[in-house]
Amino acid sequence: MKKMENKVSFYNTLTRKVEPFVPNEDGKVAMYTCGPTVYHYAHIGNLRSYIMEDLLEKALRYVGYDVKRVMNITDVGHLSSDADTGEDKMLKGAKREHKTVMEIARFYTDAFFSDCGKLNIKTPDVVEPATNCISEFIHMIDTLIKKDYAYESGGNIYFDTSKLDEYYVFSSQSEKELLVGVRDDVDEDANKRNKSDFVLWFTKSKFDDQELKWDSPWGVGYPGWHIECSCISMKHLGEYMDIHCGGVDNIFPHHTNEIAQSESYLGHKWCNYWFHVHHLNDKSGKMSKSKGDFLTVSLLESKGYDPIVYRLFCLQSHYRKPLEFSYEVLDNMGAAYDKLVKKIGTLDRDGEVDKTKFDSYREKFEAALCDDLNSSMAITVLYDMLKDDMPDATKYALAESFDEVLSLNLTTAHAAREADNGVDAELESYVLARIEERKAAKKAKDFAQADAIRNELLEKGIVLEDTREGVKWKKA
Ligand code: AMP
Ligand code: ZN
Repeated sequence: MKKMENKVSFYNTLTRKVEPFVPNEDGKVAMYTCGPTVYHYAHIGNLRSYIMEDLLEKALRYVGYDVKRVMNITDVGHLSSDADTGEDKMLKGAKREHKTVMEIARFYTDAFFSDCGKLNIKTPDVVEPATNCISEFIHMIDTLIKKDYAYESGGNIYFDTSKLDEYYVFSSQSEKELLVGVRDDVDEDANKRNKSDFVLWFTKSKFDDQELKWDSPWGVGYPGWHIECSCISMKHLGEYMDIHCGGVDNIFPHHTNEIAQSESYLGHKWCNYWFHVHHLNDKSGKMSKSKGDFLTVSLLESKGYDPIVYRLFCLQSHYRKPLEFSYEVLDNMGAAYDKLVKKIGTLDRDGEVDKTKFDSYREKFEAALCDDLNSSMAITVLYDMLKDDMPDATKYALAESFDEVLSLNLTTAHAAREADNGVDAELESYVLARIEERKAAKKAKDFAQADAIRNELLEKGIVLEDTREGVKWKKA
């Protein structure tokens, strides 16, 4: 069988360089994504990470890989600090909304996937909530204790980082010194043997009002945050993984701890490539859920933005650069998007596709994606192609093909907008006609008929308002 050409390169945080991607198994990719902590809506910063990870997955599929992607849902155990300090995020959400933790988890998991749908982010092949996998966590922790990588102290089980030759696997020497320094200031957990040790299982916690607790060999309690990603990825992808994704804030401590416990458990290297997306910032710095005041997809929609314009905003910048959000830039993106989809939507799609042109542009598009996921260059290829002198049918076929990766509704948005406008125009002429009839009924003092018209419109979701300037209407 012909071996697949390895033409994709991207930045591997583990080796600190852009590397050609070579999967463990020819033609197949085992990919894992850290999922959302479902105690609040995802903000558009979180969604930047998921958009760029979606792009990576689709680019890999586009060049021919068979990708299996797995994502967890963090519905237990995510403390805002990895010591037994900080707040439990799920509990915080439940208290805020006077609901149970599971109600909160269900609500925000649905909200997350609804946002992903609006941004054309594909749902991973497997989505697994942490609370589904408690027995797997217990098994891994038990094995780590037996292998002497974990210990019990003060009722909790900790991972012993001093057992590793190298714990700070992602960091250069100077970064390591900095990290150790920073951790000196952390509100210390006196149960730990080493400052960098982390909790695998809690039975004694500051959070005695925890709703979700399970039996374990070490007492009733709940898992730490990091263990879930190691277990869930192994459950569905096996002992060898190709790509693990997340935002840059996951590098330390989350991914560092995942590697420590996974490789100690397995006794061999676990994941070869680590793909990290840089942050979306607002003017005051990193956008974060804990700040409380953050931007969501619904907020953008309520201001009249099509969520896909935000996807375009993200694709126009490189995933390895911090991105600052601004409405001004979003407005410019919106205007560019309108023109783009109009241009594609009005192409004459009948006729022959020029195969040579098609292949040459597809190659350019792939080259941009394979070059460390250069999404803005991929969009430039799209614009260049639309300007080129070739039949409309070829342009349309290329736009359709590129959209398998870009997912910007390139070929469908224009028609959908026209249809929306058509419906609105039809509705408007109907409502205006009924308003005229109502006016006539009132003039003839047929108030019963006037009221009947008002009620008929109300049933159709149209509200009439009698104002000094005349009758106004709106959708209820
Ligand atoms: P969380 O729901 O907090 O667990 O985060 C979900 C994902 O969003 C993780 O991959 C984070 O690394 C990522 N993330 C968090 N804040 C940002 C941000 N401001 N910009 C981009 N990604 C982020
Ligand atoms: Zn994770």
